[in-house]
Amino acid sequence: MNKAKRKVVIAGNWKMNFTPSEADKFIREIKPMLAGKSGCEIVFCAPYVTIAAAQKAAEGSNINIGAENVHFAEKGAYTGEVSAAMLKECGVQYVIIGHSERRQYFAETDATVNARVKAALAAGMTVILCLGEVKEQRLSGITREVVSMQTKLDLEGVTAEQMKNVIIAYEPVWAIGTGLTATPEQADETCGQIRDALAEIYGREIADGTTIQYGGSMNEKNAAELLAKENVDGGLIGGASLVPEKFKVIVEAAGN
Ligand code: PEP
Repeated sequence: MNKAKRKVVIAGNWKMNFTPSEADKFIREIKPMLAGKSGCEIVFCAPYVTIAAAQKAAEGSNINIGAENVHFAEKGAYTGEVSAAMLKECGVQYVIIGHSERRQYFAETDATVNARVKAALAAGMTVILCLGEVKEQRLSGITREVVSMQTKLDLEGVTAEQMKNVIIAYEPVWAIGTGLTATPEQADETCGQIRDALAEIYGREIADGTTIQYGGSMNEKNAAELLAKENVDGGLIGGASLVPEKFKVIVEAAGN
């Protein structure tokens, strides 16, 4: 399967930005700007408390509202956490798991990421699984080994059937929120290495059918070049997902 047959997904990661009223205002502003754009699936992943307001504002549009994390347990004594069943009941389909900020600041490991992935998939959600190398790993020339290992550990126990609901976001940690972007060639090469790791686990057909996004300072200026690459099937966008005009240009770069 080639790129043209894969689902292209442009997803915003709002991180800890936007109160409910701010999210409402943002979605109402961007909704007409994105109307009729059918070249990609459009998602904004929002803080838990902002999801309902964003969903209401997005009603009747092509905008999906997702979450930024989910807990691995079904229920119980996990103060402050939110389960997949809770998100599902709120009408949330997409969820980011394993973002580098979770790994860096909240002690997420490949084991907890894997547990969250399995919980979300078991609830029928679509996972945006983030992985990528840190600067020292890239400089040491071990990027392929790092992303391949993360792919295998984070997807351990995930069935071939469940892979239909997995999107991978290749996010070099050194490029997130830094203004540094992987070159289109680096993004393409590493997304291809992740695809190779998927092929080792699930076979070539599933690997070639899996959507692999690039994330890391993607913006209105560099999106077209990155998204044109064979192995790049969309983007996970932080900073530029907070500015309607910038996000619109990225969506358009993914095809109209
Ligand atoms: C992200 O948060 O996933 C991200 C890629 O952020 P930014 O676009 O700001 O680098």
